[in-house]
Amino acid sequence: MVEIPPAVAKFLDGTHQSIVIGGERREARSGNTIDVRDPGTGEVIGRIAAGGPDEIDLAVGDARRAFEEEWRDTKPAARERALLTLADLVEANAEELATLETLDVGKPLTESLYVDLHYAATSLRYFAGWATKISGDVHPVSPPVGDAFVYTRREPLGVVGAIVPWNYPMLFYTWKVGPALATGNTVVIKPSEFTSLTAIRFAELALEAGIPPGVVNVVTGYGAEAGQAIIDHPGIAKISFTGSTATGRKILAATANTMAKVTLELGGKSANIIFPDADLDAAVQGALFGIFLNQGQVCAAGSRLFVHPAVHKEVVEAIAQEAEAIVLGHGLAPDTQMGPLVSDVQLARVAGLVDSGRQQGATVVCGGERPGGDLAPGYFMQPTVFTDVKDDMRIAREEIFGPVLSVFSFDEEDEVIARANASRYGLVAAVWTNDLKRAHRVAAQLEAGTVWLNAYNVLDPTTPFGGYKDSGIGRDLGLEAVHSFTQTKSVWVNLD
Ligand code: NDP
Repeated sequence: MVEIPPAVAKFLDGTHQSIVIGGERREARSGNTIDVRDPGTGEVIGRIAAGGPDEIDLAVGDARRAFEEEWRDTKPAARERALLTLADLVEANAEELATLETLDVGKPLTESLYVDLHYAATSLRYFAGWATKISGDVHPVSPPVGDAFVYTRREPLGVVGAIVPWNYPMLFYTWKVGPALATGNTVVIKPSEFTSLTAIRFAELALEAGIPPGVVNVVTGYGAEAGQAIIDHPGIAKISFTGSTATGRKILAATANTMAKVTLELGGKSANIIFPDADLDAAVQGALFGIFLNQGQVCAAGSRLFVHPAVHKEVVEAIAQEAEAIVLGHGLAPDTQMGPLVSDVQLARVAGLVDSGRQQGATVVCGGERPGGDLAPGYFMQPTVFTDVKDDMRIAREEIFGPVLSVFSFDEEDEVIARANASRYGLVAAVWTNDLKRAHRVAAQLEAGTVWLNAYNVLDPTTPFGGYKDSGIGRDLGLEAVHSFTQTKSVWVNLD
């Protein structure tokens, strides 16, 4: 049994008022709620409001009012200061936010604190800095007669719909709200129905940071209701989305009508390639971190591990030995190294794919089962490693989004590049080698938005992140992300 801290228990009592519009917390007009379950126990620990089109309409209206009356004209230095204060508040409340995230998502508390909350505060600070640095250009025009002075302004878009998944809720709020607010937009956040708790606290902290009511709004609810209402709403100027490719396609279809701009950060089936000259200890640690972080529920998960035959046996044995030693448990238990999956739905999806691997002839080297005993009521899955995986099996092609690694063997550099690229996805890839020329040669040929050389799962707010092919459109993070929350206006001044 784990104990929920009293302050968090008190907060959980009021989560039926999870919708935040114009700075006010409220229930859904319908009175409908969604149970919040602790994935570590399967127990109901609270309930959130099931908002829908009515609430989205109210939120978009209020966000538009806040945009026109206040935020777009707030001085850049004041926007920067407010975002920096928000980052400080996120840091000051990190313990509480991390506890909520762990209760909602399942990940170990240390991970919530040192990955999610750390990067949430860091990302806000990075985006805060851009508020005072976004500028246009002066253009050396050559009009046929006379002369002109031409400059560009980077202006905000309006109301941004931020649709956020359940794997890194806090972190993704900052990746979307940070650049949106820095550039003068206002936001309506639709968190995942599975993990909405930190969204409420985030909106409260935004108010505490001096960000005016209506600038950051939250509408909790089901994807098919609240989410769909955002993407269909004509008042939304941009959708910033992270989630599945299937929902990404629905967003593209809906925005064909509304003309909203889109940034889509979607799934992956990423290749992690170990050449025989690699530092094998580091490569094994990288492979483990690549697949088991956040129970494998990471868009960048290194779920396809390609290992050269010269080191295949050694690498697989080392990975299996470490995977079997991982301590599974409730995220709030102090010795837990891996928590449960986020929901029963996700557990069923992952277990189904593991079964398909067995049925299609792959070999389970370790794991492959749900743990029993005290953990049985939670949504746990053992860390699982498959070998003898063929490129056309489901576990080789589909995003599993769970702690499941498929290991392949390859002989030649060209062959492994072709196989790594033979996926509809193209989010990230990694290469382990001590041959400098090979490292850069392979990095250049991999079809992925990020390539790590002798590293895995490292990100920084300065560096664009996003996918090739079905892994998305546009980039989160970096200046590229900041620019995507603006539109360019060219101003011509007649000098004759
Ligand atoms: P979804 O794409 O359904 O969820 C992502 C977000 O979109 C959630 O907030 C969801 O709300 C919302 N949403 C769902 N349907 C709509 C809609 N019609 N219009 C607007 N918003 C919508 O992912 P799932 O939770 O179903 O996960 C399925 C798979 O997607 C995972 O197994 C994984 O493979 C992949 N995934 C990838 C992620 C990534 O980081 N790239 C993150 C999460 C999932 P709600 O949760 O309330 O339905």
